[in-house]
Amino acid sequence: MSAPTPMMAQYLALKQEAGDCLLFYRMGDFFELFFDDAKVAAACLDIALTARGEHGGEKVPMCGVPAHSAEGYLARLIKAGHRVAIADQIETPAEARKRGGSKALVERGIIRVVTAGTLTEEALLDSRAANWCAAIGEAGGAVAIAAADISTGRFEVIESAPASLAADLARLAPAETIASETGDAAALATSVRPKADFDSAQGEARLKALFGVATLDGYGRFSRAALAAAGGLVAYLDHTARGSLPFLRPPRLAEAREAMAIDQATRESLELTQTTAGARKGSLLDAVDRTVTGAGARLLAADISAPLMDRALVEARLDLVGLFHDEPGLRDSVRAALRALPDIGRALGRIAAGRGSPRDLGQLRDGLDGAWRLGERLDRVAPAPALLAELTPQLRGHGALIDLYQRALVPSPPIDASDGGYIAEGYDAALDDLRATGAGGRRAIAALEADYRQRTGINALKVRHNNVLGFHIEVPARHADALMKPDSGFTHRQTLAGVVRFNAPELHEAATKVAQAGAHALAAEAAHLEDLTAAALAAREAIAATADALARLDVASALAERAVEGGWTRPALVDHACFEVEGGRHPVVEAALAKTGERFVANDCVLSESSRLWLVTGPNMGGKSTFLRQNALIAVLAQAGSFVPAARARLGLIDRLFSRVGASDNLARGRSTFMVEMVETAAILAQATPQSFVILDEVGRGTSTYDGLAIAWAVVEAIHEDNRCRCLFATHYHELTRLAERCDALTLHHVRAREWKGDLVLLHEVAEGPADRSYGIAVARLAGLPPATVARAKAVLAKLEAGREKTGGLAAGLDDLPLFAAAQEAEEEARDALRDEIERLDVDALSPREALDMLYRLKALAREG
Ligand code: ADP
Ligand code: MG
Repeated sequence: MSAPTPMMAQYLALKQEAGDCLLFYRMGDFFELFFDDAKVAAACLDIALTARGEHGGEKVPMCGVPAHSAEGYLARLIKAGHRVAIADQIETPAEARKRGGSKALVERGIIRVVTAGTLTEEALLDSRAANWCAAIGEAGGAVAIAAADISTGRFEVIESAPASLAADLARLAPAETIASETGDAAALATSVRPKADFDSAQGEARLKALFGVATLDGYGRFSRAALAAAGGLVAYLDHTARGSLPFLRPPRLAEAREAMAIDQATRESLELTQTTAGARKGSLLDAVDRTVTGAGARLLAADISAPLMDRALVEARLDLVGLFHDEPGLRDSVRAALRALPDIGRALGRIAAGRGSPRDLGQLRDGLDGAWRLGERLDRVAPAPALLAELTPQLRGHGALIDLYQRALVPSPPIDASDGGYIAEGYDAALDDLRATGAGGRRAIAALEADYRQRTGINALKVRHNNVLGFHIEVPARHADALMKPDSGFTHRQTLAGVVRFNAPELHEAATKVAQAGAHALAAEAAHLEDLTAAALAAREAIAATADALARLDVASALAERAVEGGWTRPALVDHACFEVEGGRHPVVEAALAKTGERFVANDCVLSESSRLWLVTGPNMGGKSTFLRQNALIAVLAQAGSFVPAARARLGLIDRLFSRVGASDNLARGRSTFMVEMVETAAILAQATPQSFVILDEVGRGTSTYDGLAIAWAVVEAIHEDNRCRCLFATHYHELTRLAERCDALTLHHVRAREWKGDLVLLHEVAEGPADRSYGIAVARLAGLPPATVARAKAVLAKLEAGREKTGGLAAGLDDLPLFAAAQEAEEEARDALRDEIERLDVDALSPREALDMLYRLKALAREG
């Protein structure tokens, strides 16, 4: 086997360094991929797979993407779950030749690792969603999450707990999650990192160094797990950015308890920020979102994902929404102003990551200027709600920077700095001079063209420019002879098919002037760009705070807009565990119905200490699921600081929200399903507190009738007796209504339906009491089952019902069931009698005969229990 070529050797070393990332290897104008990387990328990007040379006697598979359009390809690879290491040339060919002679290979290095959680490029990011990279830290049984959105510099540390870790992660919905390769949390991670990265002492040192502080106390009290998480995250970001760590703001330490706990199953079932199918459209967020900026949309998504637990904070948000709600003129002008603003948070993120462009600076200028003027407008609001008074000063802090950028930059600076042209006239006299020289030179060249035409009499003569020859004279081939003469004053440069090209001394001189002036002007602009960028970086904390303030204003005014549009009301929050909603509506279903011209029927839901568990029965399609969900959504909206779709709402803060849907209603999730349903239900019984709110939709449905009824029965009893939370339970098991007799805080409700002229009319009205019957056959007819089949079903039903009269039906015998608590005690007692007996035993004192007797007695005891 022959030794690999120098290039292949370099490639293989870089590939080893890149580990499990795909390696983009720069060759000329392309990024090339080799070996398995090439196969993976070619399949994913649908580009041609070719081969290049040989390695180890085999052809080397290869594919490539043009460097100038690499971003789009990167986006697709990242979206498909890959990570990409980018190896670029880190010296010029000239430097390589100087170093190692004419054949020297240009040195390449990995300049960046692109992963889903560490993107800053506008093209790769969704402007309306945050892009979190999360790290899980573990220490002494405790866990914490550190998360960064480096597109905006946001940095959060969350003290979590093993039981709620998955829910806390679900709230963030990170694009990427990392954990130590040896930790328990590795299973939740999208990739694992070395254990050493997650050392808490090192983490503390890393954070101190990063923020230049001697102690972290100013940011809060970090647990060891939190330090481990933050350290692991910073190490990872450093790793992907290859030493040029992106912009991170000081960490915000969040207690998981600050937010209403909502686990992943509940988020999915309520479709808070996306539908079960994964789309934003159709989610609660989509139905509520009227924001006009990307940053506002991101903040609203975060708010809805993490409803607050602090009443004062919720009220502060509601006050601001209320202001915009009551003052349409103010709301409209604020929204119009915000709509015109660029995304300064993300522009700053790119600048801080070293990938900023003149256009990003232009965006900062326009954004900060707009913020300033908005601040002036809002300063006149009196009386200002507390939150507004907190926000306005953030809007007006950048006068000097705005002034600098307004003087320095042209109105719309280009993305690409390499051609210059972004520094405004009048900012730098020397630059203006250079530009004038260049322009003068270009005018002189234009004049020369006219002069040459006249001298030669060739009207088709042109002065042209290209990158090889620079400025030159071009004439059609048939006119070339005159210029070829030795004394013509022209020098021949190139003969092509139809044209011949020449140079001339005057042209050369003028061209040199233009080129020199151009090069100096470019250098001068580049120096200004550097200074202007430094000015932004020096103010980045304050700029980020301005971006936050703008986002908060967008969210508040958008929620007000939504509330006005839908006739929503401000919820009242109280300290005791009540839930009183009058005229509640489901924003998503209502919007869907509105499209077909149908009206949504508003419904009340009043839970109190004496009636905290509602059992809702009624026909299929009657509106049970909708009713349950709308109340959970109203709770989420209220605690997120939004008005709610109801005529009146008053609720006590909810600490945990649970929503479960019976397996057969839940086929979309594609898991099997009864097991999942039970696991998830078990989690509720273990976690719900008297401050929690639970909706259970047809739980127990995923199994046979008897099992299902039994499970549903037991779950309702447990929630009523043990968890004592507010709960809505929808069921098609009519038999469950008997629970009302034994559970004093359980009340019966049903969705109304009526048979009218043989047809079933679903009224979608929630009323008191149990449903009188199931209407299953009427629903079947409604669904279009053929008349003959419906008639047959009616006959079968009559037989079944006659049988039920005789035997007492499905729920026969339930009346004799001891109460839930009593049954539990009885069971525990029985187990204890057995244990007492065994504890009393003196094993050494027993004869074989006595031992045998004892065994019989124990067995009998066990049977009794
Ligand atoms: P169930 O859970 O009782 O089978 P759903 O809640 O799934 O019923 O509702 C079935 C359909 O009825 C919904 O898709 C919706 O179109 C309509 N619906 C439900 N609630 C209402 C309501 N309050 N007003 C108007 N239509 C409703
Ligand atoms: Mg349903």
